[in-house]
Amino acid sequence: MPEGPEIWRAAARLGEVLDDRVVEAVEFTQPRLHNYGPVLSGSRVRRVEARGKAVVTHFDNGLYLYSHNQLYGRWYVRKRGQLPATARTLRAALHTAAHSALLYSASDIEVLDEAGLAHHSYLARLGPEALAQNVHWRDIAARLRDPAFAGRRLSSLYLDQHFVAGIGNYLRSEILFDAGLHPARRPRDLGRGDLGALARSTLVITRRSLRTGGVTNPDARASKLKRQGLSYGAYRHAVFARAGEPCYACDTAIRRETMGSRRIYLCPTCQPEA
Ligand SMILES: [Zn+2]
Repeated sequence: MPEGPEIWRAAARLGEVLDDRVVEAVEFTQPRLHNYGPVLSGSRVRRVEARGKAVVTHFDNGLYLYSHNQLYGRWYVRKRGQLPATARTLRAALHTAAHSALLYSASDIEVLDEAGLAHHSYLARLGPEALAQNVHWRDIAARLRDPAFAGRRLSSLYLDQHFVAGIGNYLRSEILFDAGLHPARRPRDLGRGDLGALARSTLVITRRSLRTGGVTNPDARASKLKRQGLSYGAYRHAVFARAGEPCYACDTAIRRETMGSRRIYLCPTCQPEA
């Protein structure tokens, strides 16, 4: 599933062609949404915004298009009238004079008014956005100390969008490795230094991934590995999807485990259990 950085990049691509533009034609292929096509056609897009793993398009007529891609959904931007070569099913199309924004395969699509947006079951539960510039590491540290979260294992906390929005499976492994913390640990058992390090890593790694197009390794290491001829998939992460490979910090073999029914990767030396 795409994580915050991927969704933010998709929203930015959409914003480049939709922000402040009139959508001359809007179409939905699901019968329950058919009626909204004519309602939205002719309106102007105010902005496209990423919220957690959802994309919200704001229209100047007071309506919002909410879409959550789940596993398979994907937005494409094309010159108007061109379609991508894909076997996916078209769900929504927004056509400006010059471009088409096309949403494929996502089934979690809603058109909302102001109140519907404010009370949306997914959006209303989102924690602070790791990628939002106004979120400070101290906000994340406060979240970690909150009794609602402090007693939970980091492995489960770091997949919960209510704790911090925009983090998913690869970021979970990479953040906990960067902070040197074992995923079975709980915030309430961590000292001040570890909590601060974890809060900082949460923002640093997530924002790095947005900036680099999904690379969580530090820039210098990623560049070095790239120069050695490694593929994007191989130089991308420090631990994620590197089971059996040596840790870049200590040479210990990276271990793959399952936590929260998702795979997680860690270095048993750099991330001791207690
Ligand atoms: Zn290590």
